[in-house]
Amino acid sequence: MKFLIVDDIDDNRLLLRHTLESRGFTVQEAGNGIQALDLARVEPPDIIISDVLMPEMDGFTLCRVLKGIEQLKQIPFIFYTSTCLEKEDEKLGMALGASRYLLKPVDLSEFLLSIDEIISEHAKGILPVTGSALNTEPNFEAPHQVNIAQKLDEKIRDVGEQVPNEEKIKTLFQAIEQSPLSVIITDTNANIEYVNQAFEQITGYASDDVIGKNPRLLKTGNTPKSFYKELWQAISKGKSWKGELQNQKKNGEIFWELGHFSPVVDERGTIRHYLAIKEDITKNKQQEELVTYQTHFDVLTELPNRFLSIERLTQLLNEAQRDNKKVAVLFLDLDDFNRINDSLGHETGDKLALEVSTRLQDAVRSVDTVGRLGGDEFIVLLSSLEDVNEAGQVAENILNRFEDVFHIDDRDFALTLSVGITNYPDDGKTPSELLRKAESAMKHTKQLGRNSYSYFTDLMNREVSRRLQLEEQIHGALGRGEFSVNYQPQIDIPSNRIIGTEALLRWDNPALGQIPPLEFIPIAEETGLIIPLGKFALTEALAITALWQKKYSSHFRIAVNLSRKQFLDPELVNSIEAAIKSSGITPDSLELEITESVLLSGHSYIDTALEALKKLDISIAMDDFGTGYSSLSYLRSYPFSVLKIDQSFVRDIERDSADRQLISAAISMAHGLRLKVVAEGVENTEQLDYLKHLGCDYAQGYLFSKPLPSQEMDKLIESGIAERLP
Ligand code: C2E
Ligand code: MG
Ligand code: MG
Repeated sequence: MKFLIVDDIDDNRLLLRHTLESRGFTVQEAGNGIQALDLARVEPPDIIISDVLMPEMDGFTLCRVLKGIEQLKQIPFIFYTSTCLEKEDEKLGMALGASRYLLKPVDLSEFLLSIDEIISEHAKGILPVTGSALNTEPNFEAPHQVNIAQKLDEKIRDVGEQVPNEEKIKTLFQAIEQSPLSVIITDTNANIEYVNQAFEQITGYASDDVIGKNPRLLKTGNTPKSFYKELWQAISKGKSWKGELQNQKKNGEIFWELGHFSPVVDERGTIRHYLAIKEDITKNKQQEELVTYQTHFDVLTELPNRFLSIERLTQLLNEAQRDNKKVAVLFLDLDDFNRINDSLGHETGDKLALEVSTRLQDAVRSVDTVGRLGGDEFIVLLSSLEDVNEAGQVAENILNRFEDVFHIDDRDFALTLSVGITNYPDDGKTPSELLRKAESAMKHTKQLGRNSYSYFTDLMNREVSRRLQLEEQIHGALGRGEFSVNYQPQIDIPSNRIIGTEALLRWDNPALGQIPPLEFIPIAEETGLIIPLGKFALTEALAITALWQKKYSSHFRIAVNLSRKQFLDPELVNSIEAAIKSSGITPDSLELEITESVLLSGHSYIDTALEALKKLDISIAMDDFGTGYSSLSYLRSYPFSVLKIDQSFVRDIERDSADRQLISAAISMAHGLRLKVVAEGVENTEQLDYLKHLGCDYAQGYLFSKPLPSQEMDKLIESGIAERLP
């Protein structure tokens, strides 16, 4: 059974992939609707699971397109999304032919249950190609309407063949009179001779109002002239014709009809009348409009969404090329918006986003485009620029507008944003290139301290291409044996004894040389490689520690880093447990280091995993304390047993009294909660003395040793520090 997962967020895909793969399913991934279509055409999957909001092509459009492709329309389509602002979204998804509309975060077991249901429905062959919502409402597609018209035709013919004349005419009349489709018969001058009940009901005109008149009395003037021209050309030549037209009811209300028009000829082949059979398709039209709207505009702010923004940018680039002008792309990201959203709720977040969109629109010219790319990401497009510096002025304008606090629900919020700027033609020629580079310029602004803007520069260009190189090389690197693990000793400060080591990954690539973890870990996280890589580091570390425990001390400890993304692996806890078992060490000699960012997302599966690890008797350490939000509540509410103070505080411990205070406070707080404290990055004895004075438990750093390959570490333990073992 092969699944195609369509989602623009790596995390989401990774989570689903692991959930499904752990059940033995095969999984393909696509980042948006376009990619999904390409994949599905080449290799049709058995089930498609798709997000709704995605760049390039969203889930609704994807579903619509797929259901229109003969070979692919049978594939069960599941929406798995957090987009359900209105009940309408779900209805729409189901009306498009989806089998399920699941809302994130859905409990994983519930998710799998739905999958099982669909698989068994499919196996039984009862799975509807179109969703249940469609069975009660008319289809969007013309073929369905043709069917009704055809059936009516057939019925008329059947009646014609079987019954005696008078009876025949009566039945025929009744069939037409009671038909749910509106029927008009005119003479050859197009004067109405007959309309049925459906016509009267739909248009509000009584039969007497219209007999003898031309059907043009229904016209709104909005149906193109060519429509009527083609229509008359066809039917006056004896052919039938069909098309959609907009008409007006007696009360002025506008409605849409799909009409089948045909001449009525006598035995000799002369046209005697014209017949129009029409179906009211207003509902479908409205739904189509809604789909078009929702696939182009952000529901909340009504700004152009990512899809439409890119479309506009494409248009602007064409114009700029023609007129020899410049176009600037401003990529805006609200600083800390997710934190507000998470802590104050989405309702407040939404109000804030609305106010943001107003301020952005106020800050630019009316000809400029403001769009919303995603939750906290906005875009501004400036066209017909002579000079790119104008873009910087607009950015400053925007930043100024954000200086006033935001007033939402009687509370004041200070909100800033970071901006990255690119321009056509200097930085790129295509929308995706300009957008990508503007985003990296924005990230640069964040690194510089936010609330500002940066132009994309060549330096960033090199960063981007370095990144691409790394992405290319990391693929398969584990299999090629390019990764290894180094070990750095941790020292018990009062006794000066080595109590264990921290395992640190190393990557040596033939083309790029040694790549530091700070560079490759984020890429491994984004590509999903962190999961096998993390397993590799753990297995290696446990194996060597088992050896050291035998050789030196059964209390010898090992600390292994765990990335946030590894928690997306539903098998994480099981695989750690299995790795410990097969290594033969006791679980309490293993310590897993996580950073605060792991806890920030607030996902319940992280809490569950941490509790399960704690139950296994594994210690959990908070790594890099002081660099994130350093929230005390995390230390209290999660099962930590160790706190690692970040090296940036240790570095300046002699000079900076604020750092000293932080360390001192962290130590007493940690001790209050019965946590041990490790100081990272200890490079000299002065620092060590200070830490000793402050009551810090353990130290790690170049003062004792750099991280070393296992054999060298072994020598180190044996030669020098061995007698200082616990
Ligand atoms: P970390 O877990 O905070 O590791 C400590 C880092 O400080 C290591 O950098 C270590 O080499 C460095 N360090 C140790 N003593 C000193 C010192 O005295 N002075 C200075 N200046 N630095 C010192 P490294 O090896 O480059 O690793 C960087 C980060 O990469 C780690 O920070 C960790 O977050 C991540 N990392 C490394 N290996 C793994 C891994 O197996 N899995 C995961 N998820 N992350 C890893
Ligand atoms: Mg660490
Ligand atoms: Mg650290």
